[in-house]
Amino acid sequence: MKKNYLLTPGPTPLPPQVLESMARPIIHHRTPQFQAILKEASVGLKTVFQTSNDVFIISSSGTGAMEAAVMNLLSCGDTALVVQGGKFGERWTEISKAYGINCEIIDVEWGKAVDPEEISKRLKANPKIKAVFTTLCETSTGVDNDIEKIAGITRDSHAVLVVDAISGLGAIDLKTDAWGVDVVVSGSQKGLMLPPGLGFISLSPKAWKLAEASKSPRYYLDLRKARKALEKNDTPFTSSITLIIALNEALKMMREDGLENIFARHRKMADAVRAAMKALGLELFSPTAASDAVTAVKVPAGIDGEKLVKTMRDTYGVTIAGGQAELKGKVFRIAHMGFIAEFDIITGLSCLEKVLSTMGYKFTLGSGIKAAEEVFLK
Ligand SMILES: *Cc1c(COP(=O)(O)O)cnc(C)c1O
Repeated sequence: MKKNYLLTPGPTPLPPQVLESMARPIIHHRTPQFQAILKEASVGLKTVFQTSNDVFIISSSGTGAMEAAVMNLLSCGDTALVVQGGKFGERWTEISKAYGINCEIIDVEWGKAVDPEEISKRLKANPKIKAVFTTLCETSTGVDNDIEKIAGITRDSHAVLVVDAISGLGAIDLKTDAWGVDVVVSGSQKGLMLPPGLGFISLSPKAWKLAEASKSPRYYLDLRKARKALEKNDTPFTSSITLIIALNEALKMMREDGLENIFARHRKMADAVRAAMKALGLELFSPTAASDAVTAVKVPAGIDGEKLVKTMRDTYGVTIAGGQAELKGKVFRIAHMGFIAEFDIITGLSCLEKVLSTMGYKFTLGSGIKAAEEVFLK
């Protein structure tokens, strides 16, 4: 018998309430019954996004919402400033280039957060920049960027700030309106405790000015259509009915928990994992800007990183993530977001210790778990 534990930064495990809700018979989307569900979801999303702006639900993975941001805000020939520093920062560049946008790139060393001053400098040097694309949690490197500071810079500039909060939302604080973030993009399968399949996007009035002026070709992801439909509690195309019903269950859980408690829980799990790595003699990939949503850890010398992840998953049923792109085989990543809790972390660490031990890595067995338990006991 093998039990499975999912500790990856998307998809994340699903709560029983969410699973149950998806087994209900389907209803039609152009009905008062579904409109009530969509309305409840819209209100709940505003709370989680910490905004009074509309949050649009798109039937796509998170990247669809990223693409919606690019095409709705900018036109071919426009200039954007992109913060790279991981696979997902690079995605902003790739999407922008596909739409003929000129990208000014801040190439942050992987494992580091962007220096907000650099954004300030670039904006001053090039008044043509219409949008700044950045990432709340760079999932590939386990880094959190200081969005509050960045928003303090863009707020007083002509450019809009667009934040990829696909893995950060519902895990790390993001005060959209209070900080002055213009556009927030997210997805369902990370902090929001849902299966993949929904993208989300919110736009400030400053961002809407760009959306109304954009000349990019757009149809399915045209947010003007989405806004018109949402005024009537509707979506422009067939809603992802089942996923939106599940979304309401997840939002209900989040409402009962309260955002502050949710963020504190993520912080504690992150602290526990970080303490465990230190106790095991392992190095964080990002010691200076480690995320509270996912921890990236350097694979120690002499250990095959890909084999470590594979053995944990295929032999013991504990799935963590390996490294992506240039970090393949060099890091492993333990997620602590969404419906992942204290004892999932303990189980994951226990499996990590077991496999590291069988692979010949030298450490005191149980020391990682002990360090994590001490954090949880505080
Ligand atoms: C997962 C993730 C994405 C990609 O989302 P998809 O749902 O796979 O399209 C983009 N950005 C970040 C930061 C992510 O964590």
